[in-house]
Amino acid sequence: MSPEFTPPVRDDLVGEVAYGAPQLDVAARLNVNENPFPLPDEVAAAMGRAVADVAVSLNRYPDRDFEGLRAALADYLADESGVRVGVDQVWAANGSNEVMHQVFLAFGGPGRLALTFDPTYSMYPEYARDTFTRYLAFPRRSDFTVDVPAALVEIDEQRPSIVILTSPNNPTGTSLPLEDIRAIASAALSVGAITVVDEAYAEFRHADVPSALTLMDQLPNVLVTRTMSKAFALAGARLGYAAAADPRVVSALRVVRLPYHLSAVTQAVAISALQHAEVLQAQVALLREERDRLAGWLVAEGFTVAPSDANFILFGMFEDRDAVWRALLDQGVLIRQTGPEGWLRVSIGTPDENDRFRAALLEAVGQRIDGEPLEEGSG
Ligand code: PMP
Repeated sequence: MSPEFTPPVRDDLVGEVAYGAPQLDVAARLNVNENPFPLPDEVAAAMGRAVADVAVSLNRYPDRDFEGLRAALADYLADESGVRVGVDQVWAANGSNEVMHQVFLAFGGPGRLALTFDPTYSMYPEYARDTFTRYLAFPRRSDFTVDVPAALVEIDEQRPSIVILTSPNNPTGTSLPLEDIRAIASAALSVGAITVVDEAYAEFRHADVPSALTLMDQLPNVLVTRTMSKAFALAGARLGYAAAADPRVVSALRVVRLPYHLSAVTQAVAISALQHAEVLQAQVALLREERDRLAGWLVAEGFTVAPSDANFILFGMFEDRDAVWRALLDQGVLIRQTGPEGWLRVSIGTPDENDRFRAALLEAVGQRIDGEPLEEGSG
């Protein structure tokens, strides 16, 4: 008999389960805010060539500081938002999840506090747990805006070292007014906190919504995080990045990163995608149109819709959202049960997938009578 062994899992991790939404093989996978379009052939072919070029040197560790990729990201940000940052202000990792994890490693830790605004991205408390950082999620108003005067008091009293503002926010899709971000980041600055603006969905925002990158010349404590998982249709490649107002923030992230964390393959694929940014942005434009069309349809059908600047929509209100979620799944449409009770979140799919979602939703909430929504779908 083999000797007994109980893995000595950290006490605070006993009973914790791994994060992750279901990965099911259904007709319409609209549950994790992926870009539904496969990469165009020409882009995939260019990536293949780029990977072949680096393949022969995979015996060597990759460029640890990936300055080529960082320069390409800086150029992209300048094009996208009109804000030019230097290579020393740009950082990247395996998904913005990893960037944020590094932020917690570098700026959180025992005795320190991360403050954010609920409902928001469900991974933040996990980064806090992993790094022994205290985590406080201040409630948003019922329309998912932040009560700025109350937030300023909270920041002053709690003295966090990290403040996270997610805009456009997940799971609500709502973006924060730039003035609110400015006020909160200023308050954070006055207590010495870094302000991370998580802009994972930035490219899907409406034209009149500015990026927090535009605040960087006034607020040295701002770090804007982005990802290629959504707008660049590159979730499978794992490339997230960040732009810091202060290059010393990037220096701190470099201290905690694992050596050679960004593989040569990842770097090559990301640079190749950036070279095709224009083609890929055409898909983003289509997704934005589909998003607005779907939001309009949901409202017309009597559902409540949170105004979305992202590639998904939070909608409701349902007395039994689990039943609606299951009824959709029965019809091959997988969406997400997340956010406050009564709401569901659907990612924007291809036009066909969105049609399928519309039909399945009507079926799920019951037959309509003269176009009038039934109880479950109303409000
Ligand atoms: N931030 C937010 C708000 C997100 O919704 C996500 C993805 N769901 C991420 C960060 C992480 O994305 P990735 O690690 O793929 O870059």
